Amino acid sequence: MAVRVRPELEGVEIYRPGKPIEEVRRELGLEEVIKLASNENPLGPSPRALAALEGLDHWHLYPEGSSYELRQALARRLGVDPDNIIVGCGSSEVIQMLSLALLAPGDEVIIPVPTFPRYEPLARLMGASPVRVPLRDYRIDVEAVARALTPRTKMVYLCNPNNPTGTIITREEVEWFLERAGDDVLTVLDEAYCEYVTDPRYPNGIDLLHRGRNVVILRTFAKIYGLAGLRIGYGVADTALIAELHRVREPFNVSSAAQIAALAALDDEEFVQRSRQTNEAGKLLLYRELEQRGLAYVPTEANFLLFDAGRDEREVFQQMLRQGVIIRGGVGYPTHLRVTIGTQEQNQRFLEALDKVLEFRRV
Ligand SMILES: *Cc1c(COP(=O)(O)O)cnc(C)c1O
Repeated sequence: MAVRVRPELEGVEIYRPGKPIEEVRRELGLEEVIKLASNENPLGPSPRALAALEGLDHWHLYPEGSSYELRQALARRLGVDPDNIIVGCGSSEVIQMLSLALLAPGDEVIIPVPTFPRYEPLARLMGASPVRVPLRDYRIDVEAVARALTPRTKMVYLCNPNNPTGTIITREEVEWFLERAGDDVLTVLDEAYCEYVTDPRYPNGIDLLHRGRNVVILRTFAKIYGLAGLRIGYGVADTALIAELHRVREPFNVSSAAQIAALAALDDEEFVQRSRQTNEAGKLLLYRELEQRGLAYVPTEANFLLFDAGRDEREVFQQMLRQGVIIRGGVGYPTHLRVTIGTQEQNQRFLEALDKVLEFRRV
């Protein structure tokens, strides 16, 4: 039997997620395994989200397709119209909807790299050409991105803060770039980690939208709200673009559980605050401890940290696994790995494992 797929699929790499805890336990026969590989919230889900789901029993009914209530709440929160918002099965699905709706063969999509690995395969799937622009000093180089603009450029991804480096680009840099990109190029501001940012120079994407810029802002409930497993995120853009995205949206793309949980999590200020504080404390601890070990890292505005282990990242990744600590390698640098900032206990376990791994190699 011949499987006859579209030729575009040949260029599409399968996403490799962070290794699941159970798999590592099973394969390596380890008792205690922690996962600091996918930037999930180490405090668990928002308690308000959990409470909102309790006792509900209408799971036999299809969900409200457009996430009406959640869009109303988000619109109030963000100061936009509900028609400026589309909700997806994770913000990843909004990336997919954008690709389906906008991209065709011949289009160019500018992607600063290394970055979130979902932009490029979806561009390729549509037959569009990804144009990679290397980061500079671990930051998106807006001047280089502007130089890559051509009459064929359809979309530009700016992941801010950028995954896996944790760096931001400033309001000034984004505005400078949007000026050059003009009205015909859609700039995707992926703000999956915006709630963690402390740098006052961080731009407000919604503000840019209000000022008529051709942008779409992507946000998610998977990170600070702790709902990665429920799959829910959203995009904010001009109503004309949102209307087009609804044409490619699956009718029931977001489960009712996800909608209910997200709506409750949105009001869980206490949890968001606590998550931020935990992250700040963990960040400072990791900075200090890595410095004491003479290991370089990239100062982060997100809930993960990119550090230089000083040796082949694949080897370090495997040895960390054997210590029961799953982190993320293969992020685009030969000796760097990305670790999610965890609870105090998790951060300590990470450091202990790292010590064993690096000392073991030094012998
Ligand atoms: C985690 C993440 C997302 C969000 O993914 P979901 O599909 O909402 O779970 C989007 N962009 C970046 C850069 C991320 O790291």
